[in-house]
Order: sequence, then structure tokens, then C-alpha cells
Amino acid sequence: MRKMLILCVMVIFAAGLSAGRIVRINSLPQGSVTALMEEGFDITSVDMVRGYTDVMVPEEMIPELELRFPDIEVMPLEWGELLAENSKNAGYYYSPDENLAFWCTLAADHSDLADTPVNIGQSYLGEDIYMIKLTSPIGDSDYKPPILFNSLIHAREPGGNSVVIDFAMWLTDNYDGGDTRAAWILDNTTLYIVPIANPDGYAYNLPSGGYHRKNMNFTLGDGVDLNRNWGYEWGYDNIGSSPKPSDDTYRGTAPFSEPETQVLRDFILSVNPIALMNYHTYGGYLLFPYSYNNSATPDQTTFQAWGSAMTSYNGYYAGRCGQALGYNANGDQVDWSYSGNGMQGIMAFTPEVGDNGFWGGQNDTTLIEEFCEDCRYMNIWLCMTAPGFTGITGESIEPLLAVGQVTPNPVVGLASFSLSVSGSGCADLAIYDTTGRIIADLPTDELVSGENQILWNVPAGTPSGLYIIRARGADGTTGAGRFTLLR
Ligand SMILES: [Zn+2]
Repeated sequence: MRKMLILCVMVIFAAGLSAGRIVRINSLPQGSVTALMEEGFDITSVDMVRGYTDVMVPEEMIPELELRFPDIEVMPLEWGELLAENSKNAGYYYSPDENLAFWCTLAADHSDLADTPVNIGQSYLGEDIYMIKLTSPIGDSDYKPPILFNSLIHAREPGGNSVVIDFAMWLTDNYDGGDTRAAWILDNTTLYIVPIANPDGYAYNLPSGGYHRKNMNFTLGDGVDLNRNWGYEWGYDNIGSSPKPSDDTYRGTAPFSEPETQVLRDFILSVNPIALMNYHTYGGYLLFPYSYNNSATPDQTTFQAWGSAMTSYNGYYAGRCGQALGYNANGDQVDWSYSGNGMQGIMAFTPEVGDNGFWGGQNDTTLIEEFCEDCRYMNIWLCMTAPGFTGITGESIEPLLAVGQVTPNPVVGLASFSLSVSGSGCADLAIYDTTGRIIADLPTDELVSGENQILWNVPAGTPSGLYIIRARGADGTTGAGRFTLLR
């Protein structure tokens, strides 16, 4: 990963917090992780397979842990906090300034594919939270399914930010012929990226300590955990999030009490993504709902199938938080995105990137390159699968518009598919090829509320291949299906 050289005299600020260390507790008995959380420990990662639990503690607590647990390892200092020489600029990770410079340069270099950053709201301390839109000029962007990537909702987890930067670079660098998947993704989806969801906490980590996780609303304690502040099953219990302001998983005084979660919530509601990746570090997981009580969602089979396929390259563990980590988490972004948003459920995932702590790559570009490459495949797979997927069940949410199965599939001459319409009806209905070109516009004036059977006589000369049916309602809801044409 390219790193800007900053030629200036470094001023080392005295850290406001005593140095934090990640301590690995090996062979912790089953069930003890929850007990540690209840004691207020900052659990940084758990590996159920290899049997360790990592906790972040001040240096002075290490002797106490040595007495208490027979087998502990003190992990390298740079795993948990920024070393002094990097405390202002995040080392090889991208600082806030480097982030903004990167996204502006990307938009300048690829103005046809990447928009300049757009502010979508402000943080607790009034910092801008911005998003970047990536898509190609091919096809009608109204029809291109939106997918969201966000990172740094936890302030000390810049690895996820490196991953979304890497993915944006890969897409734009490979759009023109380098890799046909990049062209397919940008031609068939609209990607939204919110690279720094917690700008205050991230900025605070750079000069003053490096392991602050929450936002900077210090009204009652030392911040609110923005991944426990979402409005689905918020505060379900006191283990999956904490009512104590001093705890690292403090959930805030109410659902969406924090400006940062309000901004991200409102943005999600405005673009209505079909899938999202809420990037975190670390541990090597790909987590999906439900986090709050570890129960299976109605879409468990799909989540597990997608999770397994997405992690087939990097070997991450795909499962629910409670399965992977042995503890639950209520009020997180993916549970709300899947079940609490009042719209059709979003296929929402929480990747936990890498296995080197929060700042392990601060002086090691190779490490960052490795985990970016590991995650790129997950991103590609999701972006190429989600647009044609219409099977999400959700919980007590009636799809407003849904394209049913196409028969026969493959189609030879006459395609037949069902379209269920409710809400405000269907505004547009069209057949697309995989480059995003409209092959046929289908009439919508005869459609009735409920189930419709649509027939499409494939025009002579239409080549064999994969095609997508996309429907859009007057209220902006979308539905899609796909089929193969054989001539
Ligand atoms: Zn996190």
C-alpha cells in the first residue's frame, strides 16, 4: 500500500492514556468470555477454534492477569496502539487527511467512475462524515442495485478502511480491461463507501493513544460504542452491550442517540442498499445476523451459503457473532440493517479483518497488502452475487416488488416470469444484459396489485447469455431476477 511521506518535524505528544497492551489468554474455559465481559474487560478478539481470547489492558494490569490465568501471551505493543513515531499520521494506514486526499485523487483520476466525496452529516464534534459513490456510466443508475461499504465505526480499526480503499483502487484500476469482474461490478451496481464512520474517535487515536474504540461523546463517560447504538433489539441484554458509560461496549442512552449512527442510518434509508459490509478488525471472521441473541434469521441458509462462498479464498470463519466469538452483541449495524430498517432486509455482513491486532500493519505495508487482498475476493463475490438475488425473506416484511422465478430457465424463445406488486405499484420494468444495456422495456400499465404473470418473447438476434430483469416501483423499491438465454 502506498504511503505518503510526510517530511516534517515530528512532535511527539505525551499519550493521554497509559499504554494499552493486547494480552492473549489461552485455554480460557468455555463460557468465560461472557464473564470477562461482565467484569468490564475490553475483549478485542476471540478465536473459538484456536482457543484464545484477546483482551486490551493497561500495562500495569499485566501482572494481575499473569497471576489469574496460567497461560497468557503479551502481544506486540504495535498490535494495540500506535507507536510514538506514527501517533499523528497512522503509519501505513490512512490518516483522515490521507483518506480525503485519496478519495479526491481517485475522483479526479477516474471522474467517469468515482464521484468526489459528499458530506452526509456531522459527527458529535462536528466533523464531516462523507461518502463516495462508485459506478460506471453504463446503464441507468436508477436500476443499478446499491451496495454499501463502511469502515472505522470503531475508531481503532483502520484495517477495514485500508480494505475499502484497496477495493476502490482495484475497481477503478481494472475497469478498462484489467479484470472483467471490475467492469461487471461497476456496470451493474452502484457502490457507496463511507470510509470513516467515526471521524472523531479516529482523529483522537492519532495523537493521543491509539486504542479508543467509541465516539467522542464524553457526556457520561468516555464515548458510546457506535456498533451497539442501533435501533434493533437495542439493549436486549447487558452482556451483548453495556449500560455502563465507562465500558467499551457502552450502548448510549437510547437507540440512535449518537449523531454518527443517525447519519449512517439515514444514509442507508436514503439509498436502500441490497447488501452491505460493515468493516472491522480483527480476528478473521465474516459475521452475519442475528448478533443480539445468536438465533438464526429466516435467511440463515442464504447467509451461511454466501458467507461460506465469500470466505472460500481467505479462510475466514463465516457465522453469527455468537457462533464465532462466543458472545452476542445487541444494537449492532447488521441486525438493524437486516431486520430493523422497515424496508426489505439488507444482506448485511461484518467482516473482522486480519489477525494482527488493530495497528499491526502500522510499519508493515506487506501485512496491509495481504489482508486487503484477502478481503477483495469477499467484496467481489458479494458485488457480483447480490444484484441478481431476489430471495431474501426478511422478518415480517412484505416485499413491495418482487420478481419471481423465470421459466423455463434457460430460456429458449419465450420467457415467463411472475412479478408481485404491492405498495405504490411498478414504474419501470426492463430486461438488461450484463453490461448494463437495456435489451427490452416491458409495459407496466397492465400490471395489477398482487401477482402478475409476464411473458416476454425474446427477439430474434438476441445473443445467448445471462440477462437480468429489473423492476422499479414509484417509491424507489427495486426487484430483480435473472435468467440464461440459450439460442
Ligand atoms: Zn469493531
